[in-house]
Amino acid sequence: MEKYDVAIIGGGSAGLAALKQLSNHGKQAVLLEAGNKVGSKNISGGILYSKKPKRGHVNNVEDVYGDVFLREAPFERKVTKYILHATSKDKIYSIDLTKAHEYEANFGYSVLMNKLNGWFAQHAAESAQKFGGGIIPGVHVSSIESNSSGTSIIKTDELDEFEVKAIIAADGVNSEVAQISGARSKFTPQQLYQGVKVVVKLPEDIIVERFNLSAQDGAAHLFAGDVTLNHLGGGFLYTNKNTVSLGVVYHFDSLLDNPTEPYTLVDSMLKNPFISELIKDEVPSRGQIDKSLPQEEQLRIRFAVTKLIKSWYELREASMSQNGRAELIKSGKYNSIEAINEKLSSIRDQLTDKYGVSFLTDYNEAEYSAKLIPDGKRCRMSKPYHNNILFVGDAAGRGIFVGPRIEGLNVGIDDAVRAADAVARALDKNNFSQDYLGEYYSQSVEESPYTRDMKQIDKDYLKIFLDAAKDVPKDILSAKYGTIIKLMSSGTLRSVAIKLANILGYERLLPIIESEDTYVKVPIEIAERLGKKATASYKPNIPSIADRVANLKYDDDNVSHIKVLDSKSDFMKKMVTLCPTECYTIENEQVMLQHEGCIECGTCSLETDWKHPRGEKGIVFQYG
Ligand SMILES: Cc1cc2nc3c(=O)[nH]c(=O)nc-3n(C[C@H](O)[C@H](O)[C@H](O)COP(=O)(O)OP(=O)(O)OC[C@H]3O[C@@H](n4cnc5c(N)ncnc54)[C@H](O)[C@@H]3O)c2cc1C
Ligand code: SF4
Repeated sequence: MEKYDVAIIGGGSAGLAALKQLSNHGKQAVLLEAGNKVGSKNISGGILYSKKPKRGHVNNVEDVYGDVFLREAPFERKVTKYILHATSKDKIYSIDLTKAHEYEANFGYSVLMNKLNGWFAQHAAESAQKFGGGIIPGVHVSSIESNSSGTSIIKTDELDEFEVKAIIAADGVNSEVAQISGARSKFTPQQLYQGVKVVVKLPEDIIVERFNLSAQDGAAHLFAGDVTLNHLGGGFLYTNKNTVSLGVVYHFDSLLDNPTEPYTLVDSMLKNPFISELIKDEVPSRGQIDKSLPQEEQLRIRFAVTKLIKSWYELREASMSQNGRAELIKSGKYNSIEAINEKLSSIRDQLTDKYGVSFLTDYNEAEYSAKLIPDGKRCRMSKPYHNNILFVGDAAGRGIFVGPRIEGLNVGIDDAVRAADAVARALDKNNFSQDYLGEYYSQSVEESPYTRDMKQIDKDYLKIFLDAAKDVPKDILSAKYGTIIKLMSSGTLRSVAIKLANILGYERLLPIIESEDTYVKVPIEIAERLGKKATASYKPNIPSIADRVANLKYDDDNVSHIKVLDSKSDFMKKMVTLCPTECYTIENEQVMLQHEGCIECGTCSLETDWKHPRGEKGIVFQYG
């Protein structure tokens, strides 16, 4: 049987950081990832932060990968504007939260996980190979057995079993390793959010101009109020290089209380006039092909139009980007910007004149995705280990989600470094006992400033937030939070109040902080009273969920990775509405599953026998 020192299960940002850090220590590790390519199963909002807490130390992405991260990593934009919007119908009131975004931060970059994790994988694999390790994609870990000698045997659907001394479980929120090993029970709806996202294409020049940015900078917009359709949570819109990530994150229990299709919640954002205007673009719309033409001719036309539209999009995208224009000219294909524009016009004329294509104002959706997110305040593992297995990132239920603060990526990377350091120490002493390995890691994670942020309100952060909202008339807030606002408005009282609040503990405070008043009612009132009117110049043509699923890439598996346990349970009946891709239907009072459209979000996992698909199978996200 093959033997390795360490196995890392899961190649998301956390698992990859663990692999890189272990090779930084000169240790051997293999990383097993279910997706056919690293990055194909990962999604995020997402802003990747690097932090510098006033107290304590965190391990940032650039500490793991070195300066090359800042020079070469394919992040999208450095977020320099962070704005919270209160919405009510066509009214919108905006609060600048850039100071809150910059709080204790070195930077925050917008990122797309497929590209970014691909880059992390390349760097982590290169280092790992020097020590006899590496990354094996397309492998689904199905079982872990403990040996009497204290080592573990890893079994997969694809490879021969092999033996390791320690395991880092980075297999995400729906961690099978946690279930197989019995390390923790499944997270409950009270401990989770459901995140749903679409990636919208938008040329670079338009992003820069519309969001009032410089070439490299980016903007983050958050939304509360009526766009939530009365759910607890909110929406986000982050600018990437030449796309925009737009989505929603809601408390799973609030969705169970008032089931609404995940796509309806995203669509509510898309339909908001302020947001529609931010994402609008010129979009080709095909004309009808003359049905009286011979079948072959109809096919030829369809093919020609598809090819021309593709060329038009590609050339337009390049021509509307500083680097793209330079590349086109450098390649010798075009000798000037005028020549590029001429070619674009000629493709466009051909499309309109020859094939009846019209050019409309609309938006251009590229990818639909969803995933559960663990609420670290409620579900982080108090002891994130089990025997010789250390849990990191989403698998350990860790992440900071406090109002506008949304941080899972940086927390997972910090955990991964702590886990890798603990494993390296254990390898040096050849001691993988719970006391030496697990307890050491658990202690290290407990000391992380991120853990503090999952437990306590940070008064300095809160002050920034309250200062940003200082123009909101006190009477709106006082009606709902009278005493709290009085206490928080005074510097001295605020310190005392927060001390008291932190003694009370998050469990008792959260129902007040995370309520319908906070996410829905107060923002609606603010928008109604103070908001400016926004008008949209068009009505977005939103794809149906069937079209969205048809647009996704899958490597279909004929075997279902999910088994329904009780087809009549109330929870499963709600999945008919809450599955983001409508995999569930109800027939004769029984819930039926059609697994092919599954995007592996985990929403139905609580009451199903839920596994990730076999290696290489299932969803293949292109953006993430
Ligand atoms: C809509 C949305 C918005 C978000 N916004 C932000 C944000 O702005 N900022 C932020 O910091 N965080 C954000 N987050 C959270 C953040 O994306 C996650 O915390 C982070 O991606 C988790 O990384 P991970 O490596 O722990 O897990 P994952 O990225 O889920 O990786 C787990 C990996 O394990 C693999 N795997 C699972 N089981 C097995 C198995 N048995 N065998 C082999 N491989 C397996 C999976 O294929 C996957 O690649 C957001 C999340 C969502 C969904
Ligand atoms: S079947 Fe379950 S895991 Fe798959 S997309 Fe639907 S809710 Fe998510």
